[in-house]
Amino acid sequence: MNEHQIIIVGGGLAGLTAAIALSRYEYDIAVFESTPYPHHKVCGEYLSNEILTYLNFLEIDLLAVGGKTISRFEISSSKGIKAECPLPMGGVGISRYALDYQLYQTAQRKNVTFYFEKVLNIGFDGHMFTVASRERKVTAPIAIGAYGKRSGLDKTLDRAFIQNKNNWLAIKSHYKNSNFPDDLVALHNFKGGYGGLSKTETGHVNFCYLVNYPIFKTCDGIEDFNEKVVSKNSYLKQFLKAAKPVFETPLSIGQISFEEKEPVVNHVLMCGDTAGLIHPLCGNGMAMAIHAGKLVSESVHGFFDKSSMGRQNMEEAYRSAWNRHFKNRLRYGRYFQEILLNETLLHWGISTLGQSKSLLTNLIAKTHGKMVLP
Ligand SMILES: Cc1cc2nc3c(=O)[nH]c(=O)nc-3n(C[C@H](O)[C@H](O)[C@H](O)COP(=O)(O)OP(=O)(O)OC[C@H]3O[C@@H](n4cnc5c(N)ncnc54)[C@H](O)[C@@H]3O)c2cc1C
Repeated sequence: MNEHQIIIVGGGLAGLTAAIALSRYEYDIAVFESTPYPHHKVCGEYLSNEILTYLNFLEIDLLAVGGKTISRFEISSSKGIKAECPLPMGGVGISRYALDYQLYQTAQRKNVTFYFEKVLNIGFDGHMFTVASRERKVTAPIAIGAYGKRSGLDKTLDRAFIQNKNNWLAIKSHYKNSNFPDDLVALHNFKGGYGGLSKTETGHVNFCYLVNYPIFKTCDGIEDFNEKVVSKNSYLKQFLKAAKPVFETPLSIGQISFEEKEPVVNHVLMCGDTAGLIHPLCGNGMAMAIHAGKLVSESVHGFFDKSSMGRQNMEEAYRSAWNRHFKNRLRYGRYFQEILLNETLLHWGISTLGQSKSLLTNLIAKTHGKMVLP
């Protein structure tokens, strides 16, 4: 049985950031990731600039790999009324294929060990964790859970949110569409859901949407849904008409839960979506996952560095940092989601309040954090 100092379960944004941040102190770190890199993921791929300085500090330069600078936002109701404003902080359009791969390569250079295996269980005996995949068991005094929105592990850890049925389905594809501007992120509403459009480093446009499953089920698959429901929004109709899909088939994920979760479960420090998923319309789940990777690395470094800290104090420090930075943002995300899915309220909001650029900018700022500094 291999022993490490830190085991990270899940090599997405949160897990890879934690691994890179902790590698600066030369800890023996292992990451379990079920899917080899590079790979595509269902995500809007708009990354808020709040995290750019921190990424640069970790030697990740998104603009150098072609990330698009995004500075404008627009939103439309299903009835085709639109509002727009400058983005308070702005962001970068970059595919998860490129972003996660860049983080992985950086972690590899920093001597992080990778096991490309699915973790089936995380056990704790009071001092040490045992992390088990089908192929091996490894132990460590610290385990970080960064395995995303939903996993079989949530069942083994008996987490409350996993018991409830969730009706959200997300679909993503990349398109060629030369009419779409580089500097724009757009959010368009349709019956039962909404979708985001923004360009990635390849020049292709990401179209990713979230939809209520019972409404999706009224149609005969994705193409039929795009034609009968999504295209009722005239902006999306126009986009799809001029667009050529790049993927053979779109990617999709189901059972997405936005319920509250706990940042520490059975002494595992949960990080990124594993600790709580913000509604995608806020466009900063990726930045929050990277930020959470930073926060967890600081608590874990405190545990090893200050022998007086102890496990309980470390868990408390992490829980309180997580709540301070993210709890309110998740709450605002839930309010905004309610509005966005109410077609009448959204239409009214855009045609009245939405015409004030400063009000729209202030609302966006509610779900975003301050610039994250090293
Ligand atoms: C429809 C939609 C659109 C979105 N759009 C945006 C957007 O435009 N901008 C934005 O900022 N955020 C967006 N988000 C949110 C963003 O995608 C997430 O917040 C972000 O991916 C969280 O990163 P993470 O590292 O926590 O999880 P992930 O990126 O999901 O990484 C988890 C990793 O764990 C691995 N894993 C899972 N289970 C196991 C296991 N048992 N063993 C080993 N490995 C495992 C997975 O393979 C995965 O690589 C969107 C979300 C959705 C649903």
